[in-house]
Amino acid sequence: MPFLTTEFGNPSGAHRLARDANRAVDESREVVAEALGVLPGELVFTGGGTEADNLAVLGAIEARPGLVVCSAIEHHAVLDPCEKLGAALAPVDSRGLIDLDRLEELLDSETSLVSIMLANNETGIVQPFHEIAAIVRKQAPNALLHTDAVQALAWLDVAALAADADLISVSAHKVGGTQGVGALAIREPAKLAARAIGGGQERGRRSGTQNVAGIVAMAAAVEELVVTRDSEVLRVERLRDQIRDGVLATIPEVIYTGDDVTRTANIAHFCVRDVESESMLFLLERSDVFASAASSCSSGAMEPSHVLQAMGVDPKLGLGSLRLSLGHTSTQADVDAVLTALPQAVDRLRTSQENQNG
Ligand code: PLP
Repeated sequence: MPFLTTEFGNPSGAHRLARDANRAVDESREVVAEALGVLPGELVFTGGGTEADNLAVLGAIEARPGLVVCSAIEHHAVLDPCEKLGAALAPVDSRGLIDLDRLEELLDSETSLVSIMLANNETGIVQPFHEIAAIVRKQAPNALLHTDAVQALAWLDVAALAADADLISVSAHKVGGTQGVGALAIREPAKLAARAIGGGQERGRRSGTQNVAGIVAMAAAVEELVVTRDSEVLRVERLRDQIRDGVLATIPEVIYTGDDVTRTANIAHFCVRDVESESMLFLLERSDVFASAASSCSSGAMEPSHVLQAMGVDPKLGLGSLRLSLGHTSTQADVDAVLTALPQAVDRLRTSQENQNG
């Protein structure tokens, strides 16, 4: 609050209020950098995860033109800039894990950038990043390796898991901060061309007056997160597994996506046969359960998400996809509410479908 009121200084200025704001940004930088396992000077604050991803992909290729490879299941914040640059897409298997042999085939000395997310935003599935990095270093020695860790930071030790990455994107609103703030770690000696140019803030890597209050809030959230993460993971995982068990026990013809792979603690993703996601979401909302069909950007579209398509999920089944995600405020009562509302919703939709089919 002080940075929105009494201490509202521009960190680029020279007077006391400005210097205080600048110090607050620098102290925040130390906190977030440590959580990502990089030096403070290697961290650039951005206006969110999308901007961090765009800076990583487009900034890397502008600085060093060459071929781009990304996974087929990236968030659109990575996928769209990569596709704009003609990227080759590394496929995943039916469990949502990168096909390491195919990845290896796609890489060579002409590759300038490889972008593989740490955890997927629709399924929560976590990639074996050390193995991926070893393949990238061997096959594409001239490439920068970027990872979108936006979904990972709240639940995983990103500093350890992404220790081999040159570029790491994160977003404040996934870890308890506000929307519209994020960061990109650019590990030395990686060099990027800035996307936002002008005042030269963030050591010329992202011009524009920083969102001081948002950055301070992000650091406060991250500071709390690193201390509480292990216990929160256990607590939230228990709630999530209750959802999994309850749904599988009460609703016939449901697939729990990526059952046997490592996933973040917070996401339960299902494909419900003979039910359309949108109708499910509508009925769930009437019970105050706010869920998602896939990534929030693509809910509403009448085709399975690109993530499910890449995993080879039967398109008919994919139309009944449902992502139930938990967070730090989730409680047992929330789980109970889902386990009451969802079976009722599915039952109702299937019954009306049967009636329509005569
Ligand atoms: N990357 C992933 C994996 C995400 O889940 C999201 C947002 O949901 C983003 C990038 C974009 O982050 P932001 O919403 O901060 O722009």
